[in-house]
Amino acid sequence: MKNVDYVSIFDTTLRDGEQTPGVSLTTEEKLEIARQLDKLGVDVIEAGTPISSEGEKRAVREIAGAGLKAEICGLARTTRKDIDVAIACDVSAVHTFISTSEVQMKYAVNMTPEQVLSSSIDSIEYIKEHGLVCEYSPMDASRTERGFLKRVCKAAEEAGVDRINIPDTVGIMIPSTMQELIRDVRSVVKVPISVHCHNDFGMAVANSLAGVEAGASQIHVAINGLGERAGNAALEEVAVALNLIYNKKTGINHQQLYETSRLVAKLTGMAIQANKAIVGENAFAHESGIHTRGVTVVPLTFEPIKPEFVGRKRKLVAGKLAGTSGIKAELEESGFHPTKSQLGEIVKVVKELGDKGKSVTDADLLAIARAVMGKVVKEKRIVDLTDLSVVTGIRVIPTASVRLVLDGKEYVASETGLGPVDAAIRAVQKLTSPLVNVRLKEYRIEAATGGSDAMGEVIIKVEDKDGNVVSSRAVHQDIVMASVEAMIDGINKSLLKSRNRKN
Ligand code: MN
Repeated sequence: MKNVDYVSIFDTTLRDGEQTPGVSLTTEEKLEIARQLDKLGVDVIEAGTPISSEGEKRAVREIAGAGLKAEICGLARTTRKDIDVAIACDVSAVHTFISTSEVQMKYAVNMTPEQVLSSSIDSIEYIKEHGLVCEYSPMDASRTERGFLKRVCKAAEEAGVDRINIPDTVGIMIPSTMQELIRDVRSVVKVPISVHCHNDFGMAVANSLAGVEAGASQIHVAINGLGERAGNAALEEVAVALNLIYNKKTGINHQQLYETSRLVAKLTGMAIQANKAIVGENAFAHESGIHTRGVTVVPLTFEPIKPEFVGRKRKLVAGKLAGTSGIKAELEESGFHPTKSQLGEIVKVVKELGDKGKSVTDADLLAIARAVMGKVVKEKRIVDLTDLSVVTGIRVIPTASVRLVLDGKEYVASETGLGPVDAAIRAVQKLTSPLVNVRLKEYRIEAATGGSDAMGEVIIKVEDKDGNVVSSRAVHQDIVMASVEAMIDGINKSLLKSRNRKN
């Protein structure tokens, strides 16, 4: 028996999240996300809507058969046909729903309130006869006539439902109205109540938490806040707030949050905004001088959440607002130890660039430091390129061979790829992955001048397995060379930083 402070996390990334416009996942991708959600520790995985397509049915069946700890749930309308298909997928739970608001009953499902009520009862009884867990949603509950909503919920309880989910289908609630609604439903039923909030007004997370304050014990969420229109309540935000602000318990393994977010972003192709809470690129980044000095001395000064708590790392960013101590810390991590006057000069150049409207990447910062410190810096290079050859063309699989010096020893590798750049970068990674496992987070190519003889500038970001990101750039007339040089530079920086951190 879970205690009263436990809030169950019902993840709908693979159902409502997949209903995000533009998102479509293969069976393999859904399975990969389901395994990660299980590792993350969600209580329920809503795997999809089996009736919707053959592929969806296969995906739900495979997830149900994957031996995961979470309860695997399939979505079904309140019809036997939908429910039978869900049951045939061997799910352990069926989530069945029907519109209960006047506008949706009339124009979306074309049924009278009495028909809605009887099909709800029939479906719940049918699911329970099959021995499965049943969750029931009166869709559009927040716009449903209150007397009818309570009647439907009471009837659902009497029919043997296990949980009643109250959806704010079009996201029109605010925390106070959500509390009042849940309290009102709570007054007529004893079964656990869940909430399902949409983010149309940016209040999905706040409304979900308000639901818990009023007695709900389960929240429907999606990774990165995916879902129809503006999305659902974001799992990562709900989970962290429940733990750190509400002092509630969940099954979530917080250190897995960032990893899960990245996987979902990659497979759905839905990028995460930089200023997104918990998982955004800037969520744990500091630039301004007062902040960087504060967090390097006592993190609590400007960090309400420890980055490590959610599987992340703090990032100090150089820029015109940056202070001396932040820049010093950043440089030291890369093995640069400027004197006081050199540091003053570096900070001055960074601020001048910032005032001109340029963003200062860590690659720029090191270039500035090198220029200011002159010959004093002998940069250690752990990885060096000694040879590169590439074959590409029509009816030829692009293939690259590289020769690298790694920690003083020479190695050779070949790889194929989608194009010459891809092949060359794969070959480099094949040799360097035993030393440092980085992934290419961003790759940009710009022609510095017009014409086919233009210098190509390649700007990349690589990220190591701990979430540390470094950027690097290289300029060359040959874009393959520019790409490989940028990659090797990024790998060097990543390695140096991790070795300097260990020392
Ligand atoms: Mn929804």
